[in-house]
Amino acid sequence: MSPANRYTCLVCGRKFPEGQGVTLEVGSRKYAFHSKTCALKFLKKALENIEINALINTFDKTAKEFEEVLKSKSELKSKKIG
Ligand SMILES: [Zn+2]
Repeated sequence: MSPANRYTCLVCGRKFPEGQGVTLEVGSRKYAFHSKTCALKFLKKALENIEINALINTFDKTAKEFEEVLKSKSELKSKKIG
């Protein structure tokens, strides 16, 4: 048996086997965290490093995407009721 791929959490340094924890794939890069807490900590810090206007644009765009999902869900609901 070959040993499972092991990742090291970028935030706390803990080692964990592949399939556990949270991995974030961005393009050809892969970032690994042993838990959601560490992933969130990393993301929050990363967001601080993004230029503020770019960040607001991205957040607004993402919020709109969620709004549209919510809207289509409530439309589906009202169709069922009506
Ligand atoms: Zn960690």
